[in-house]
Amino acid sequence: MIRFGELSTKGKNKKDFIRLLALNVRHALKDFTNINIDVRYDHIYVALKNNEPKEIIKRLQDVSGIHSLSLVHKCEDNIETIKNDALELIKLENGSTFKVNCKRSNKRYPLVSDEIVRIVAPVILKNTNLKVDVHNPDILLSIEIRDEGAYLFTNSFPGAGGYPLGVAGKSMHMLSGGIDSPVAAYLLMKRGVTIECIHFASPPYTQEGVIYKLVDILTALNKYQPRIRLHIIPFTKIQEAIYDNCPESYCITIMRRMMFRLAARLAKRRNCPIISSGESVGQVASQTLQSMNVINEVTNTPVIRPCATLDKLEIINIANKIKTYEISIRPYEDCCTIFTPKSPKTMPHLEEVIEYENKFDYETLINDALANIEVKIIEE
Ligand code: ATP
Ligand code: MG
Repeated sequence: MIRFGELSTKGKNKKDFIRLLALNVRHALKDFTNINIDVRYDHIYVALKNNEPKEIIKRLQDVSGIHSLSLVHKCEDNIETIKNDALELIKLENGSTFKVNCKRSNKRYPLVSDEIVRIVAPVILKNTNLKVDVHNPDILLSIEIRDEGAYLFTNSFPGAGGYPLGVAGKSMHMLSGGIDSPVAAYLLMKRGVTIECIHFASPPYTQEGVIYKLVDILTALNKYQPRIRLHIIPFTKIQEAIYDNCPESYCITIMRRMMFRLAARLAKRRNCPIISSGESVGQVASQTLQSMNVINEVTNTPVIRPCATLDKLEIINIANKIKTYEISIRPYEDCCTIFTPKSPKTMPHLEEVIEYENKFDYETLINDALANIEVKIIEE
């Protein structure tokens, strides 16, 4: 029994939420034949048939939009059956105390919740050594009476929370091959945002190996988004022009402004209302608030930075959980590390930046880069 996540949403939004969640659940379980997925207004049921529940639960725990799930026993809703099956179920559990909870959403059912508890609990007391503890029971037996039948369960597993992938629209995500940007991508997906990725490649300064690394990272992220489009932007000429025309201490600021210009234009072309990145406040010179302000000045497109307030350690923990950390730490140069100046500006001034940028024709270079994008689709 799958329970939904943050459902303050109603009406059409709720319908979209459920439709997308059901689609994502089907996808997560596509390897299992013979299961049956039943989508209802407030739950999704997966009939396991003869499949092992453990692996199915594990897969479902990665699907965003699921609040929690329980392995449930479905039975006929007559009280004799409920009594017997509840007793059999509780006998499988370890512990010395129990409590019975009942919820009745089928209001036509002849007994109210309280009556059901008063019928079932004595049967357990009489046939086992268990004692009742209503405050802190070892075993909590839940009974839910719904239109489609009765459900009994003694467990609950946490889901990933958030929203189903796709409900929130699409972001143009800046993917560098470092540790932070894959984590940022995952955090967006958890919020229901689908991503397309943009990567700035500077061959021969950066190696072809970076691209393999990105493909591996995106393959790991396919678990959360089954199909991801990667746009590889040729960035070498822009970077060389920056280094030929601007003082070294300003190169990173200007390089990042070029990245955001490119990202914003591609976002528009690909119908992405936002851009996102793995930036984290204060982590490096280009991520001071002053730098972010000057860099962000090139675009009105909102930039979401899911890692903005996370510590490096928190980011690494998530990277480990989503299995991108080991890939990210593979030693390949990226365009930032290659050209890193000895003393980058932490307090760049916009007037100076604009003055340096005007020394070369970056518009033409940007248009050239956008005309020569290489696209890769990474899918399961
Ligand atoms: P990361 O670990 O994600 O590389 P970082 O701490 O190394 O981040 P920066 O190198 O300053 O920080 O990059 C900040 C963000 O800018 C990255 O998280 C990413 O979103 C974007 N970015 C940097 N370099 C590139 C690139 N070559 N292609 C695409 N995006 C990039
Ligand atoms: Mg980086």
